[in-house]
Amino acid sequence: MAKEELECSFCGRKKPETSLLIAGLDAHICDRCIEQAHGIVIEESKQSGNSDLSAELILKKPKEIKGFLDEYIIGQENTKRVMSVAVYNHYKRLLQAPTDDDIEIQKSNIIMVGQTGTGKTLMAKTIARMLNVPLAIVDATVLTEAGYVGEDVESILTRLLQAADYNLEKAQRGIVFIDEIDKIARKSDNPSITRDVSGEGVQQALLKLLEGTVVNVPPKGGRKHPDQKFIEVDTENILFIAGGAFDGIERHITKRLNMQAIGYSSINKESIDKDNILKYIIPKDLKDFGLIPEIIGRLPVLTYMDPLDAKTLRAILTEPKNAIIKQYKKLFEMDDVEFSITDGALDYIVEKAIEYKLGARGLRSLCEEILTEAMFELPGSDETKLNITKTYAEDRLNKSTIKKLKAVS
Ligand code: ADP
Repeated sequence: MAKEELECSFCGRKKPETSLLIAGLDAHICDRCIEQAHGIVIEESKQSGNSDLSAELILKKPKEIKGFLDEYIIGQENTKRVMSVAVYNHYKRLLQAPTDDDIEIQKSNIIMVGQTGTGKTLMAKTIARMLNVPLAIVDATVLTEAGYVGEDVESILTRLLQAADYNLEKAQRGIVFIDEIDKIARKSDNPSITRDVSGEGVQQALLKLLEGTVVNVPPKGGRKHPDQKFIEVDTENILFIAGGAFDGIERHITKRLNMQAIGYSSINKESIDKDNILKYIIPKDLKDFGLIPEIIGRLPVLTYMDPLDAKTLRAILTEPKNAIIKQYKKLFEMDDVEFSITDGALDYIVEKAIEYKLGARGLRSLCEEILTEAMFELPGSDETKLNITKTYAEDRLNKSTIKKLKAVS
């Protein structure tokens, strides 16, 4: 058959009328028919719903989850183990086929307590990345009760929908990370003295979401739902992870430990690790801090973050899969510059991060301060090597505006 006479076996268009005609065994298909067929496949798979997503969600065993976390997060052994089990149980629960016994596995929402910059957000991000589920990160401080100025708690779900590109099924098995949960604590231990409406009201509003309920969510700018006022989102299978620094909670913990030590409990005052009081945290301490018991009950997995010591900070610089130093190396590589940094310089950066109380968050700012000059000068120059020594780092920092960093930290 002459080339011009070939035609699409689906719509009958002749080859010259198509942009592309693909040959099969005994038939041909044109570009337009491929697109149409593709649309049908997408629609069909949407309608068949959950089953596809279950296939997409590959559930690893707790040890594998921990292994994945190890690649990105340094230390925090306890939290990694606790999270691995909680995440495993949560997704096991939602992938489970309905059974006829009456045993209903409850949600394993998580609460992480630890100073800022210790990796709480990183933990949530890494879990979401591993599971390939959408993640919404929200700040509890902007949340208010309905009717007040600020964002309603429903806005959390709008964010999750956005993260899921408005795929409702995906959003409904996503993860929500609520940062700074401690900032909505009741300001007084005794509810009858002060009623801190803002804090307690938000806690009350959050309760329903955490527990599992159907919420009408305004889609806000969803391309696929331009006319729709609300999308019904079921939070039953959404995993909530809350995080907060809970500044001062150590006082509550120490007080309780001292009481226990006086009593007949097994706690021996001498054996208490005073550098890491958080590791003794129990739900009651959260209550004493000002979280309402119902919220605590709906965040049943409680875990703590270890403070970052020099050794950990040093490892954070170079070891994780996308460690800061690896990122700079790559950036310079793109300009054909071979980047290296001495141990002395790395130790110096850690020392400064500790001195300025910047934690892991500060490592990045310090590196920027030290390397900006080189990142400006080297591209396009004849230099092919850059070795950062302690002297170089010191010199750059002395000239820089690092004092500003200290002021904002
Ligand atoms: P938090 O949410 O506890 O305030 P983040 O997760 O935002 O802290 O961490 C701040 C920065 O420090 C992030 O860039 C993160 O990559 C890094 N970081 C913090 N802790 C660790 C850790 N344990 N391992 C690797 N990187 C970390």
